Amino acid sequence: MHRFVRILLPTCLALSVTQCYRVGPPGGGRDTYSGGSSQASPSGGKISMSRLYREVNLKMDLVPRGTHGRKVLRPMKPRFITIHSTQNYSADAWKHSQALKNGALRSPKTRYGNRIGYLIWHFTVDDRVAIQHMPTSEQGEHADFHGPGNRLSIGIEMCEHRGSSRSATIERTAKLTAILMKKQGIPLRNVVPHYHWPRFGKHPPNKNCPHFLMDNGRPGKKWRWFLGRVNSYYQKL
Ligand SMILES: [Zn+2]
Repeated sequence: MHRFVRILLPTCLALSVTQCYRVGPPGGGRDTYSGGSSQASPSGGKISMSRLYREVNLKMDLVPRGTHGRKVLRPMKPRFITIHSTQNYSADAWKHSQALKNGALRSPKTRYGNRIGYLIWHFTVDDRVAIQHMPTSEQGEHADFHGPGNRLSIGIEMCEHRGSSRSATIERTAKLTAILMKKQGIPLRNVVPHYHWPRFGKHPPNKNCPHFLMDNGRPGKKWRWFLGRVNSYYQKL
């Protein structure tokens, strides 16, 4: 357990940690920003919601109601979707799900910090699967403490463990985001990186997350490319 906690704690979401740890480029995680290299969908025409769901390979593995990150249930009508990356090079989506269910992802509860003492978000995506950890009608703890990022947004974490395909993870995330936009009536302009939400009391307040979709630590060309991938799926639905 202790080893597991140690492995999983230094994630992007460990908001108590001043800086995400850096281990250099993940092995096998090729950066492909040109787009289209791993599309499973036809480039033109419509795609059904059920087909997109199948391609996302969405699994439900909810943290039990009333425990750990769902200890306090706070209703939410989501208006944004916040994209993160784990900065954890050891854990895939299932390992993150297990850690959330075990209560292994803690964060100090402070006046301006984490509200419940645990981290939690809605979905974790890797190159094989997307896993849901909590209903989208509940607030998570993944973005900006008491701020609107936590109160109003669905949190999606992208895995980046060694040996995984980053391009496959990004495409799956783009598909899941398009599905959520459609289901929740969320416009593309409200699909934002974690960077978008300043964190009170943190320096810098705007986090370089998801770091591999930021340019010089902030949204730029790579982020616009990602939004283009999301929009391409959304327009086909
Ligand atoms: Zn983040």
